[in-house]
Amino acid sequence: MTDAITFPDVRIVLVETTHPGNIGAAARAMKNMGLSRLVLVAPRDFPNEKAVWRSASASDVVESAVVADSVADAIADCQLVIGTSARDRRIPWPMLEPRECGEKVFSEATAGNAVAILFGREARGLKNEELQQCHYHVNIPTAEAYSSLNLAMAVQVIAYEILQAARGDAPLEAPWDMEFASAESVEHLIDHLEQTLIEVGFHDPDNPRQLMTRLRRLLTRVRLDAMEVNILRGFLSAIEKKIR
Ligand code: SAH
Repeated sequence: MTDAITFPDVRIVLVETTHPGNIGAAARAMKNMGLSRLVLVAPRDFPNEKAVWRSASASDVVESAVVADSVADAIADCQLVIGTSARDRRIPWPMLEPRECGEKVFSEATAGNAVAILFGREARGLKNEELQQCHYHVNIPTAEAYSSLNLAMAVQVIAYEILQAARGDAPLEAPWDMEFASAESVEHLIDHLEQTLIEVGFHDPDNPRQLMTRLRRLLTRVRLDAMEVNILRGFLSAIEKKIR
């Protein structure tokens, strides 16, 4: 048992969970590993007694779960967002091993950043557009024949690695002179950029190809800080002013 390691600003986000039992089992997996902030994006069947039963002694985590309408709402104020996925997606994204994920989450949370880890629907996982709101993706290596873990089992593995990082001496992040940008402010920047690219005739929304996905990947990969977002927004506004 590990005493007194808690992670107040690490939230586990379950997206459109179908089975309330999985919510309860995920809550238990979290509490076993010192996590307590559960966010449910549009759960299919919640609140439900089954979630409380399956949580065993983690009913406090179920009862304090916050329900959100969308992934964007759930992560709006987060500065590090990680998405879990059972399979490779079409456009490659920066990846973490579960162990690296545990270390990163621990060191970022220790540095005061708000962290979210997203888990997808039982049948279909996370949508591409949801995965593209993440800085990193993490895949739990499995046997080739069957790569999809039960949702709560996947939460267990990821939560375990966070606690193990905290128990060991995971290296802390180098200090930064600015706050990292929130997910919401990066979304606004991407909207603004898209608007400007359309106005200058560089981007054709009727033939978008992968342009915005690639720019989104660029902007999440560099981990913008709040000042950098402000500079880029100012730059886009100056372009708009000039061409209008
Ligand atoms: N058929 C779905 C699997 C969904 S399993 C798919 O192909 O994506 C439900 C959720 O559990 C996933 O969205 C993910 O959050 C998590 N999960 C299951 N297996 C995983 C694995 N091997 N690595 C990382 N996350 C996994």
